[in-house]
Amino acid sequence: MGKGCLFTMSECIFCRIAAGELSADIVHEDDRVMVFKDTSPQAPIHFLLIPKRHISTLLELGEEDGGLLTHIITVLGRVAKEYDLDKKGFRTVINTGEEGGQTVGHLHFHLLGGRHMQWPPG
Ligand code: AMP
Ligand code: ZN
Repeated sequence: MGKGCLFTMSECIFCRIAAGELSADIVHEDDRVMVFKDTSPQAPIHFLLIPKRHISTLLELGEEDGGLLTHIITVLGRVAKEYDLDKKGFRTVINTGEEGGQTVGHLHFHLLGGRHMQWPPG
């Protein structure tokens, strides 16, 4: 468990999804990353990309995580293309901490698409 962790790992729902203990609608899975549908979608397409390893927030990331991050971004692009989001665009969001709107203490990238996004976000 890292600094600023909102939950312990055993209570972490995304660790439990990554371990196959909790079901999810999985879109992609490999040794390092899992992509699954958000259960409360905010757009026609709303996926979450997580590292399988528990990382609480992006504040825990360092240079040594460069390979993992590159992999997550590459998977994100691949999934976006699979779902035809590359044509019209999409949004990628990482919420951090309480005021950032983070409700699950396991790093996740939101991939949202299929509608026109607003700016600024609420
Ligand atoms: P955030 O508010 O940025 O921490 O995002 C957490 C996201 O996780 C929210 O969009 C929730 O709808 C989503 N979520 C919570 N529990 C689950 C779950 N068991 N399976 C899939 N998505 C979930
Ligand atoms: Zn976790």
